[in-house]
Amino acid sequence: MKIQESSYSSDSAPNLKDSAAMGLFPSRLPHVGTTIFTIMSALASESKAINLGQGFPDFPCDPDLIAKVSTAMLAGHNQYPPMAGIVELRTAIAQKILAEYGKSYQPETEITITAGGTQGILTAVLCCVHPGDEVILLEPAYDSYQPAIELAGGKPIGISLQAIRNPEGQVTAYEIPWEKLSQAINSKTRLMMINSPHNPTGMVWGKADLDRLAKLLENTAVLVCSDEVYEHMVYDGQAHQSVASHPQLAKRSFLISSFGKTYHVTGWKIGYVAAPAALSHEFRKVHQFNVFTVNTPVQYGIAQYLQTAAHYQNLPNFYQAKRDYFRAGLANTRFKLLPCPGTYFQCVDYSALTVPEAKLNESDFCRWLTTEIGVAAIPVSAFYAKPLESGVVRFCFAKQAETLKSALLRLQHL
Ligand code: GLN
Repeated sequence: MKIQESSYSSDSAPNLKDSAAMGLFPSRLPHVGTTIFTIMSALASESKAINLGQGFPDFPCDPDLIAKVSTAMLAGHNQYPPMAGIVELRTAIAQKILAEYGKSYQPETEITITAGGTQGILTAVLCCVHPGDEVILLEPAYDSYQPAIELAGGKPIGISLQAIRNPEGQVTAYEIPWEKLSQAINSKTRLMMINSPHNPTGMVWGKADLDRLAKLLENTAVLVCSDEVYEHMVYDGQAHQSVASHPQLAKRSFLISSFGKTYHVTGWKIGYVAAPAALSHEFRKVHQFNVFTVNTPVQYGIAQYLQTAAHYQNLPNFYQAKRDYFRAGLANTRFKLLPCPGTYFQCVDYSALTVPEAKLNESDFCRWLTTEIGVAAIPVSAFYAKPLESGVVRFCFAKQAETLKSALLRLQHL
């Protein structure tokens, strides 16, 4: 059976006919198929390609973290934890946010443990967006945002980041289209989704950007869902700018983070949402009937592990070395490297390659790269609701040196 690609990608078709043919009920998400990450990982595995597509590390987490989780399990922490998460973990998170961003959240009322960032995002959207509300998102946007808004009955308003091009027409950077954002806000706007460091482009917001957003929202009731799951992957000596560090934004924001990203355990599906008490109260009403709570022993293990900040404080250097190695390996090729100030994703423009496949759209190019060259990537077009082809694909460099080396040997032939 052919798997239908998520239509949060440029080349997939609505699936209405299928559900109608099955005579069941109209789909709640008629334009959605399987996510591009699942599709490309399946293709990579089928083709025995090196998987630089879906974002996940191919190296283990710290054995000490595993030991701490195992100890919690052996100690009998295996029944339901409190609905919002164990207080030890919420307290450790509050201390971390205070130390990193200078904002004090109350563990009891303002921090909720979630089953990963995606559940946090969906729950935040569901708890505040009503049918007919507008939600602004910046495209390319992570592919869960639009379906989350649609499930709430909201109307996604996609605003494209402005692609800056060199004289050869290649994309060299992305900028926030402030004018367009300002024009998109009206009395129906309920929420704005922001994401820094940004998946897939790697761009990061500066302090001035947060100031500008705060100014834009100043006299509105617009809430903010701030996806900061790559908060500890900001490079070149820059600091991550969290909404938590900005008092005017913090009071209207759901801050989303993910331990999977920070601790190399994407399969554990655990993260958190920090938000003012009134927002957290509504968030928890939805959360309790969605997942109710999140697995207990991992919460205990992470609560202990968070006592030492060294791991996440070293993360920028750890990933910057991988980024630099990967970029150096592509520097003398015809791939045009986009800037990568954050995340573990490197975007490249492939339009100047001399192979005929350089003319393919992003999705077909990624399929070809996976099946014929043996390296999987993600088409950036999959992060847009309506087709937008820029000739740019995303590689994940959260990989062991040997994996990156083998991938580079294949890519350097092009
Ligand atoms: N966040 C990951 C990425 O961008 C993928 C997560 C998923 O597969 N749903 O690659």
